[in-house]
Amino acid sequence: MQKLLPFLRFPPLAICLLLAACQKEAVSPGAPALPTGPVTPSPPPPEHLTLGNPSGAVTDINQPTNYLLRKPQYALSYHRDRGIPNWVSWHLSPDWRGSAARQDDFRADATLPSGWYQVQANSYTGSGFDRGHNCPSADRTSTVADNSATFLMTNMMPQAPRNNQQTWANLEDYTRTFLTSGNEVYVICGSYGRGGTGTNGYAATLDQGRVTVPARCWKVVVILPTGSDDATRVTTGTRVIAIDTPNDNSLSTNWGTYRTSVDAIETATGLDILSAVSTTVQQTVESRVDNGPTS
Ligand code: MN
Ligand code: MN
Repeated sequence: MQKLLPFLRFPPLAICLLLAACQKEAVSPGAPALPTGPVTPSPPPPEHLTLGNPSGAVTDINQPTNYLLRKPQYALSYHRDRGIPNWVSWHLSPDWRGSAARQDDFRADATLPSGWYQVQANSYTGSGFDRGHNCPSADRTSTVADNSATFLMTNMMPQAPRNNQQTWANLEDYTRTFLTSGNEVYVICGSYGRGGTGTNGYAATLDQGRVTVPARCWKVVVILPTGSDDATRVTTGTRVIAIDTPNDNSLSTNWGTYRTSVDAIETATGLDILSAVSTTVQQTVESRVDNGPTS
């Protein structure tokens, strides 16, 4: 009874008003619902796989060479034993662009299954290869969190500096120009093979063998006028740009030099790119080599 005494000092009416006030605050119809437990992150949007999942990747610890990672900002198939993605796929529209600064916060991806090696921010240090983004920083500038997500090491590949900073970057820049003329874009890129030549010469692996240096870096860009039901809007007339570049610091800085067909990339990698597009449309757009402008 001793502990109840302080309450008894309040007149009963005051207690009733206090309880009513608290209750009213909790159930106010205009107020947002208060969280009642741990906040569950919402599932990543499906938009990054709209045109397909090129390798049928799944988020299954028993698939370490084709492990699906779905982020709000992009989707990728990770190869644990190469320490790099097989492919990364993302949707690019004006909504993804804003004024967030480049975060430069390269870091290990802690979302990999426990026990898997996490490539570190310094794993490429001194190698003569850049930490080359698959999904580029400049494609994700609407929020700081979106930009920061591109700096996860699961989004990186060891890329010859001249490839990354010139050839590849020039196509990244060209791709973004379509956003200001009423278009949206899908980009799927990746790397394959083993062994490249950076500023310190040839290397097959980095970080004591835990990161494979790919021999080739490829990219496919699909340009659509802004709209909905995007996979069904890819037609035989859709511009599809495909490149396959050597991971070699002596390459040309003109990305147009490396244009190829999607079919050739599929043959080299074993992937089925644009698998969500009708097979008849795939047959046409995947066999064609782009010859449009390059800037
Ligand atoms: Mn880059
Ligand atoms: Mn295909």
